[in-house]
Amino acid sequence: MKVYFETFGCTSNQADTEIMKSLLEGGHNLVSSRSDSDVVVINSCAVIDRTERKVLKAAESARAEGKKVVLAGCLPRIDPGALTTFKPDSIVSPDSINLIARAVEGAAAGGFTAVSSQHVDKAVLSAGNGQLIRAIPIAEGCLGSCSYCGTRFARGRLRSFSMDSITAAVQRAVISGTREVQLTAQDTGIYGMDTGPRLPELLRQVCTVKGDFKVRVGMMNPTYVAPILGDLIQAFKCEHVYKFLHLPLQSGDNSVLVHMKRGYRVEDFMSIVAGFRKTFAGLTLATDVIIGYPTEDEAAFEKTLATVEALRPGVLNITRFSPRPMTDAAELKDLTDRVKKERSRRMSELKKRILLENNEKFLGQKVDVLVTEKGKNGTFLARTDGYKQVVLEFGMLGEMHRVEITDAKAHYLIGK
Ligand code: SF4
Repeated sequence: MKVYFETFGCTSNQADTEIMKSLLEGGHNLVSSRSDSDVVVINSCAVIDRTERKVLKAAESARAEGKKVVLAGCLPRIDPGALTTFKPDSIVSPDSINLIARAVEGAAAGGFTAVSSQHVDKAVLSAGNGQLIRAIPIAEGCLGSCSYCGTRFARGRLRSFSMDSITAAVQRAVISGTREVQLTAQDTGIYGMDTGPRLPELLRQVCTVKGDFKVRVGMMNPTYVAPILGDLIQAFKCEHVYKFLHLPLQSGDNSVLVHMKRGYRVEDFMSIVAGFRKTFAGLTLATDVIIGYPTEDEAAFEKTLATVEALRPGVLNITRFSPRPMTDAAELKDLTDRVKKERSRRMSELKKRILLENNEKFLGQKVDVLVTEKGKNGTFLARTDGYKQVVLEFGMLGEMHRVEITDAKAHYLIGK
């Protein structure tokens, strides 16, 4: 069978796609364009309604081209109602990606196949595939009950994968040629709360793997970072670990955080960032904000602007609130599109200014970078120890270079 993958959503979903591809290799032919395929696997996301619409559009286009469609990922569980308008040939849930071959073969055979709830250790399934950047899942699910988020319906409660299987997966990746390992989960900060050893311990063990590689630690929610902060900062000192902290703020207003059921205050968030910055001067903070949550009034929004200004993140993901099925926030009166659009515009302007000001501080500096990707027009993309992206005209994939920063844009640096 000729199989084509289309992936939406987060790094966890990308990691799931890589695992599914490796499981199909040998038995099936993975193709690089939809038109060449018999079966299209759409690894879906439904975190916001705009993404869900894109997923459904991709599925409908594949169907219109006469392809069989396997719907993987989060959408079927976050918005099962959507499947009354688009009926996939097969469904495979995020916890059953080990059964992807059955889903693909079932789709091709006609009828309908659904496989779910196997709860596999995905780190065991993560094969080394020689890619320079490799996402390795460390856990599935979360412990939160955020009022706006449907991911917990898709990914369930926390299941941490074994520390040894993760370390072995990192080893396989590094031996196969990976130079950047992305440890990923819906919330990496809760790793081990169900099994014992927590994230700092995992990082220490991963850092014992021999080889030249860097580790990017994925998103962690502030609530569960606070109790392990000291130990986590110690673990981040390992030279393999990028000094990159992805900590979602969501709102700079404590009342809105309570309505969102986030479980921390702005002050708690600030102390975590201060703790990391005190130890790692070159830290890049990545954060996320939701604009236009139903209870966000003008004053609350102003507080989010002020908090972002004070935080000066290096990466800021701005999401406009959209109600998701079966969530508490979907019951609240939505703000108008005009208000949400206007607030997003103001936040985007602030973002652009802060990111550029941050990056301009690098002008003239000499920094060590790891080249991990090809860029546009023959360029190369590299990362500093703080995970800043540097665009280079010349570079060797997988190699470290010492470069001088000659220009700064809001989203990247230019080096020579
Ligand atoms: S976990 Fe969330 S962001 Fe990732 S694919 Fe699922 S809905 Fe999208």
